[in-house]
Amino acid sequence: MNCGNCGKKVDERQTANLGRNRIVCFNCEEKLSEKKYWWSSSSGLIELELKVSTIDACTSSGECLTAVQLELEEEYIQDQVKDIDPELLRRELSEYACWDEYDLTNHEENLEKLLWIASGDVYDSEEYLETLEGR
Ligand SMILES: [Zn+2]
Repeated sequence: MNCGNCGKKVDERQTANLGRNRIVCFNCEEKLSEKKYWWSSSSGLIELELKVSTIDACTSSGECLTAVQLELEEEYIQDQVKDIDPELLRRELSEYACWDEYDLTNHEENLEKLLWIASGDVYDSEEYLETLEGR
């Protein structure tokens, strides 16, 4: 089979699945999984850098709350979210009009919403698609 990123012929045992039926060689997996995607909220006041593994986990179809919670525990995510002001986050999330005030009272849950939104945005972005297509 061929690597879905560089196109090199590889043994199936030496491939990794990046999600979205993206099978790549170990070289590319390393390269792609290290790459981080930058995201910022509409106001630009909250910024995150997300790994491909995080984006894939948080955008899997169906129930992904568990995945989001797991990703949120990742050290590199914690480093980015630990200083986010709860009030600011509440304000930013209310912009999305998906939740009312009551839904946004719990900061920990708001962080989950943030990561979920950010992953979805990046997943749908042109830049992310191009990486997956290996251009
Ligand atoms: Zn490759």
